[in-house]
Amino acid sequence: MAAPPPPPHVLVLPCPAQGHINPALAFANRLASTSLSVTVLITTDLINKATVSSSSSSSSVSIALISDGKEAVEGPETFEAEFKRARAVLSPNLAEFIDHNRSSASPAKLLVYDSTMPWAMDVARARGLLCAPFFTMSAAVSAIFYHLKNGGLKYPYEECEEVCLPSLPRLGAKDLPSLSMFINSSQTVLKLLCDQFSNLEKADWVFFNTFDMLEREIVEWMARKWPIKTIGPTILLNKKDNNNNNHTTINLFEPKQDSCTQWLDSKETDSVVYVSFGSLASLGEPQMEELAHGLAASRLHFLWVVRASEADKLPQGFDPGEKGLVVAWCDQLEVLSHRAVACFVSHCGWNSTLEAVGHGVPVVALPQCADQTTDAKFLEDVWGVGVVVRGCEREEIAACIEGVVGGERGAEMRRKARELKKLAKEAVECGGTSASNIQCFVEELLCR
Ligand code: UDP
Repeated sequence: MAAPPPPPHVLVLPCPAQGHINPALAFANRLASTSLSVTVLITTDLINKATVSSSSSSSSVSIALISDGKEAVEGPETFEAEFKRARAVLSPNLAEFIDHNRSSASPAKLLVYDSTMPWAMDVARARGLLCAPFFTMSAAVSAIFYHLKNGGLKYPYEECEEVCLPSLPRLGAKDLPSLSMFINSSQTVLKLLCDQFSNLEKADWVFFNTFDMLEREIVEWMARKWPIKTIGPTILLNKKDNNNNNHTTINLFEPKQDSCTQWLDSKETDSVVYVSFGSLASLGEPQMEELAHGLAASRLHFLWVVRASEADKLPQGFDPGEKGLVVAWCDQLEVLSHRAVACFVSHCGWNSTLEAVGHGVPVVALPQCADQTTDAKFLEDVWGVGVVVRGCEREEIAACIEGVVGGERGAEMRRKARELKKLAKEAVECGGTSASNIQCFVEELLCR
């Protein structure tokens, strides 16, 4: 009897940054728990810094290394240089990887690539692979970049402008994605983000880390143009109750989870503010100082992630004492799921936003740049599960924390946060929109 054909092999190419790797790997883990075989392509430089963990030795996600040339770079690079180098090196290396893989026992059938690398589609298509970009920002933010690309919106924005775009709520200039921190590179960043749409009409599937009930109108609007499949929130995809224990993670920072969990265990329910600005955002010294005083002024305890590169911005002699714990990195999912955590002071990166939503934790938003400003607007105005700090004075920060954890408005936010958590869970459970989209995609892939 002939041997059964090998399972379809999927390559996953994430963008080498923590906020892109986390959802891509979570999705890869989920795909590997179905009938697919999955290889995640990780850049050589990144793997040198990373801790790779597998919750099972039989994890079916394979990791393969691919160079984007960064390991040979000495000293700092401008964003432009980094962008050009990564593409120039990664593109031929991806081609070589696919060519080499083609003669293996399990040649790849599909490339899932980070949507910020649209050139990957051309490389994979030329080698006969199916192609699916994976968007790791919200559908709303991605739609805004589509309008920026197609002239529906101009950058820089008019200061007093209020924009009305299809399927999106009215947005002021301050709610639109901010590129101001990329001081000399804003046009490069803008091009990078707009180019996500340069060849989308040729995609076989377009994956979004969101769920229908969260961004329903925008998803429906997009689905009229492209073969959209919402598959999020990826953080909930691999929970034990989804029968997937084979879970690989890649961490670019040193986890300090034991001390955090022990410390949280010692605190009362809903008595801790969790504070984190993700893997890249950098606060100014005055902002750090106001935040430190704002946290000290709040009646709650605080657990504050200050990355090693940010630590010297803490106010001189700052001592959290009994009230707080400052760590360089933590297991954010474990922290957000802890009963002691009452709210999340966040920069509102899309992963952190979805992680707060998926755990039912209300947010005090201190967006810094990029998509964070828009995510913060949605948390506050569209979903009603957060407040945005206007200005960054200590009194304002403490008042916003109190506004979320106390009072009538806070109670309403917490109620809505619980409701969204339920919807997020339903989306990824058997029969939910995201779970069904994944199942449908796998069936389609098996027939192609
Ligand atoms: N994260 C973490 N521990 C920390 C801080 C962040 O594990 O101490 C994770 C967080 O769970 C999220 C990612 O890092 O998945 C950050 O992604 P996000 O989109 O929120 O922000 P970015 O780093 O891309 O700005």
